[in-house]
Amino acid sequence: MLSKTIEVPRTKQLDRLIGKIGDKKEGPTVFFFGGIHGNEMAGVKALDLVFEQLGTETVSIQGNMLGIRGNLPAQIQGKRFIDQDLNRMWTKKNIAEILSKQTSTQNAEEKELFEIYQLVSNCVETHSPPFYFIDLHTTSSKTLPFITINDAMINRSFSSLFPVPIVLGIEEYLEGPLLSHMNQEGYVSLGFESGQHVEESAIDNAVAFIWLVLTYTGVVVPIDHSFKKVYFEQLKNAAQGISDFYEVLHRHALEESDNFQMLPGFESFKEIEKGTLLARHNKKKISTEKDSMLFMPLYQKQGEEGFFLIKQIPIWALKLSKFLRRMRFDNFLTLLPGIRWKDSKKESLEVNVKIARFYAKAIFHLLGYRNHAIDKNHIIMQNRERKAKNSMYTNEWWF
Ligand SMILES: [Zn+2]
Repeated sequence: MLSKTIEVPRTKQLDRLIGKIGDKKEGPTVFFFGGIHGNEMAGVKALDLVFEQLGTETVSIQGNMLGIRGNLPAQIQGKRFIDQDLNRMWTKKNIAEILSKQTSTQNAEEKELFEIYQLVSNCVETHSPPFYFIDLHTTSSKTLPFITINDAMINRSFSSLFPVPIVLGIEEYLEGPLLSHMNQEGYVSLGFESGQHVEESAIDNAVAFIWLVLTYTGVVVPIDHSFKKVYFEQLKNAAQGISDFYEVLHRHALEESDNFQMLPGFESFKEIEKGTLLARHNKKKISTEKDSMLFMPLYQKQGEEGFFLIKQIPIWALKLSKFLRRMRFDNFLTLLPGIRWKDSKKESLEVNVKIARFYAKAIFHLLGYRNHAIDKNHIIMQNRERKAKNSMYTNEWWF
């Protein structure tokens, strides 16, 4: 008898699609992702539950919802990733490279990206706008549930509907998260971190969040509106009434071979005093240089960030930036020395740091720019606002 090894297609073990509703023809269309990190299963479980509930709740469905499973092989092994972090691969250049590669030479996550990319592209072609992208995650530390967004007004407006803290600007520190790609395409895209990996409440919070997204986008219209209030209150309680905007100030970067150990007991959104000992990094003691707020301290082996520091954005700054962006104030920036448009579509600015060093980063942030260093003397400021497909959302009630 011939012995043969049978390669079971991964889709036989886990389906890429958790579920979908809607007849495609009428929008909106909401994409939910769960388990892009394979050890973060609360989102997948929550999506499963919501699809089940959708069959029993009295709702009318007026759009489309797709639940997409993220990193399948990593989910099977209960790991963040197998070969590389699937949530750090979605740059234009990298996607193009992976799409042109032969499947046999792709590593585990390149295969995953390839499949997810094809699925999403197909669905965007065949479904109706407006489109929303929601990526569900959990953290290794204790945390309030929170939203992360790239700083475009469409994202700010939509995310401010939810009673949880909102963290802006993490894209400046991370290369290639899935949602940055969706933002490049101009769509509303939110990351939702529902709690700590293993906590039961992380699933409950994700369920509440998914239901609120479905009702706010108008994909489902509840016959009985009381459940919307129940989910809103549940999230509000879980977030301890905090629903302010925060900005990332600092990322503590890790190399793969580093030995990093966070001291026990730290949580996201906790104030920490100057001089607090936070971690040991390659035997060096790491403490805070000023009073700050801690964000996503790392309590697992895999990860490229030890922790972040954040600060609350004052209301006046939020209002001012909205005003300046509406009047396209950034058109005047290129009148200043050391600043010029990088491309003809005016989507990014090239800033000569040597000449323009005194223009504070804060001004660029107000106007919707996030930076990316190209060399010692130049940074590229990418504008989130000019990429955003605002016209897709102008008729939506929340915009
Ligand atoms: Zn994650």
